[in-house]
Amino acid sequence: MQNSPRPDAIIEARDLTKVYGQGDGAVHALQGVSLRVRSGEFVAIMGPSGSGKSTLMHLLGCLDRPTSGSYRLAGEEVSHFSRDQLAAVRNRHIGFVFQSFNLLARTPAVGNVELPMLYAGVPKDERAPRARALLESVGLGERLTHRPGELSGGQQQRVAIARALANRPPLLLADEPTGNLDSASSAELMTLFRRLNREQAITIVVVTHDVNIAAWAQRVMVFNDGRVTEDRPVTGAVAKSERDALAAPAGVREVRV
Ligand code: ADP
Repeated sequence: MQNSPRPDAIIEARDLTKVYGQGDGAVHALQGVSLRVRSGEFVAIMGPSGSGKSTLMHLLGCLDRPTSGSYRLAGEEVSHFSRDQLAAVRNRHIGFVFQSFNLLARTPAVGNVELPMLYAGVPKDERAPRARALLESVGLGERLTHRPGELSGGQQQRVAIARALANRPPLLLADEPTGNLDSASSAELMTLFRRLNREQAITIVVVTHDVNIAAWAQRVMVFNDGRVTEDRPVTGAVAKSERDALAAPAGVREVRV
């Protein structure tokens, strides 16, 4: 069958459109986007503000439905799913990382990481040990009981990554994850993403406006006016940018996964 997904595709989207509003005020945020992401890939999405990147991430993350088009996530056609069905798919397959961390301010790191497990019905006695292990794996074993306000931006984002991994999703979606971080913390974070991708084969899709961040991925897709205008492997320059980033001061070496 022409439309059957290839087995190694975790994301297979075809002709996605998204229209916000109606009539004269309608905004055509996505105008026919097709993409295929293999399981285990690390993809960066770039493009100017308003080009449709966040809209695409919302669709890929099953937070919203397309106006038209097909979206298969891990082989399952989800474009017509109800909100409840989408929530279930989301919990099973996807971890989210946001620019603004979105941590609960009064809750210690370990509690923040436990929260998605609570929603997923993970038994109580499994939650804390798994949360601790995740925090240790992102280099925060010494900060388990710290509240977000007692952590640096980079550390908060690492808590958010541990939280995103709480239910062991195969896919991590990150929307401008380094947008609030300085360059050393950004390099630390991308080092962590790369290790998660390489060592645990987690598929990662990162939206960024920063070419130095995109350089950490294996592949870059560029959006313009709701369309993919470029889709290319990352080559050459990356190695350099990776070296520069790793040469950045402090932090980077702290990350242990
Ligand atoms: P990007 O993430 O690349 O900045 P977006 O996906 O946020 O782009 O936006 C694409 C277009 O869709 C923009 O013109 C934006 O104003 C519009 N848009 C995004 N979300 C909404 C919404 N909820 N309602 C109406 N228009 C929206």
